[in-house]
Amino acid sequence: MTKQIPIQPMGDFDPNNKCDFCTNSKCCTYITQHIETPRSKADFELLLWQVSHEHVRIYQDRDGWFLLIDTPCTHLQPDGRCGIYRHRPEICKEYSNDYCEFDAPAEEGFKRHFRNYAELLAYCRKRFRTWGY
Ligand code: SF4
Ligand code: SF4
Repeated sequence: MTKQIPIQPMGDFDPNNKCDFCTNSKCCTYITQHIETPRSKADFELLLWQVSHEHVRIYQDRDGWFLLIDTPCTHLQPDGRCGIYRHRPEICKEYSNDYCEFDAPAEEGFKRHFRNYAELLAYCRKRFRTWGY
């Protein structure tokens, strides 16, 4: 269920209280994995298989190509807090909320974004004239 974010004047946010107002806790609801830049038909066939699965997306941004899997962290509590805060993984400790998905969706930085098989297949057909189907 998507919860509503309370309306708060932007000037009242600071890094210490900002997450309290982000009741969707967007940053804890998916994982990403960097992948090799796909070049060949075989590379894209593999990605077509992967993106055919539920909750799997593929995107390219300035850092390269990534798999994105929409799946909430099992430590995310109903109130949006982390259930293992003191022992959370290093990547979570390093994540800064200075400018995060509360401010702008990550998708704004995507150069390419494939949300399903049909979107990636359309790209493959354009990229490879001899794609074949
Ligand atoms: S770091 Fe940003 S996206 Fe994550 S819970 Fe805090 S405000 Fe929300
Ligand atoms: S371990 Fe905690 S901070 Fe890290 S993704 Fe899970 S809920 Fe978020």
